[in-house]
Amino acid sequence: MKNITVIGSGTMGNGIAHVFAQHNFKVSLVDISQDALDRAIATIAKNLERMVTKGSITSEVKELTLQNLTTYTDLHAGAKDAELVVEAATENPEIKFKLFRDLDIICAPHTILASNTSSISITKIAAQTKRADKVIGMHFMNPVPVMKLVEVIRGYSTSNETTQAIMNLSIALNKVPTEANDYPGFVANRILMPMINEAIISLQEGVAGVSEIDTVMKLGMAHPMGPLQLADFIGLDVCLFIMNVLYSGLGKDKYAPCPLLVNMVTAGHLGVKSGSGFYKYTAGSKELVIAPMFAK
Ligand code: NAD
Repeated sequence: MKNITVIGSGTMGNGIAHVFAQHNFKVSLVDISQDALDRAIATIAKNLERMVTKGSITSEVKELTLQNLTTYTDLHAGAKDAELVVEAATENPEIKFKLFRDLDIICAPHTILASNTSSISITKIAAQTKRADKVIGMHFMNPVPVMKLVEVIRGYSTSNETTQAIMNLSIALNKVPTEANDYPGFVANRILMPMINEAIISLQEGVAGVSEIDTVMKLGMAHPMGPLQLADFIGLDVCLFIMNVLYSGLGKDKYAPCPLLVNMVTAGHLGVKSGSGFYKYTAGSKELVIAPMFAK
């Protein structure tokens, strides 16, 4: 495979495009928004420059990486020559279903269609196409250029050949792929999100405060970030959305979203992106300050 199309140029799409381009693939980056595409190229250039400064790549690699990238707002133009499409558009089933129906028509019959979805069923996405054997999950972690893991998710009909091609390709990107089957939350979010939810339940029940819960998990379990800080970083709305996917998909009470999480999302306290969650965020400040409602 040489020609890769990445759909969606937001947080994940720009990182995925960066990693493919840096490993010498020709990348077509597609978004409905020209502004998002311009921001993505600026972000990739800034991240590459930081790598040059750190000495992890040469300035020649930076230039070659940027030359490997072309942007499109037209899906047909951006996807028609792809051998692999990695979809990283907004996490909304209707948007993804329509994209996969369109891609099935636009792309050559041999093209593999992958989704970076965190929580939508790969089997449901595949059912939008006539090539379910060539549809697969390729779940990169944020920030993509830094994080080693790619969770490779087999839909009900994904073939061994497609899975092997994506496992090999992930290794060619210098990532570590792990295979999972298509059940709600796959592996990463099925384990991470209930842990975050339990941390919020512990806070709600007064077992301990924000700083104590995060300190126990950082120093006691060697996690680089406590679960409440991580929830702020991911976005509390995203955490709630994924808990609801687990709850409805697996049907067990242990996946019920914590009422405090529901309240915080309803009140618009979404974490870093809204300026407050369990911590309070001020632009330009690196200091970790507990949000006033949780301060002792
Ligand atoms: P984002 O909101 O930062 O970016 C989404 C981009 O998709 C936007 O630029 C939007 O304009 C574009 N888009 C929307 N509809 C489109 C369409 N029809 N065609 C082309 N582009 C379209 O979102 P994100 O955080 O990058 O998430 C993208 C995907 O990656 C989601 O499926 C999400 O679940 C998954 N994911 C996110 C993270 C994370 O930490 N953010 C981690 C792993 C996986």
